[in-house]
Amino acid sequence: MEFGSFEGTCKYCGFILPIMAADQKDADIKVGEGCDCGGYLREKRFINAKVLVDKYFGDACIEAGLRTVDVDVLPLLYKAVECVNSEKIKSVSIAITPSTKCAISMNAKESIRVERTDTHKFQGGA
Ligand SMILES: [Zn+2]
Repeated sequence: MEFGSFEGTCKYCGFILPIMAADQKDADIKVGEGCDCGGYLREKRFINAKVLVDKYFGDACIEAGLRTVDVDVLPLLYKAVECVNSEKIKSVSIAITPSTKCAISMNAKESIRVERTDTHKFQGGA
């Protein structure tokens, strides 16, 4: 692959830097990934946290013997992840059902924690 000199633009903050790259797209990606604004890491964190939401609340949780949440609820959880990721909200707790709760928060290491809690109560009478 031929490399040339391009002006890459960070898609997160608009920072422009001359860089050796295969093409304009490659230049933009390289500048974005290396930019000090942290946009690239925030995007990666967001994608990873969404994977956790799918794992604990979406179809993937069936494998763990859990019930999925209503399809209308998943976008709400993604939005909660988005707000925590952009640091507009510190933490969110959602009682999905009386026995299933979701907590999404930013920890001190600046990573997002996604938590599912299921409580079951069994009571008998004879
Ligand atoms: Zn940037």
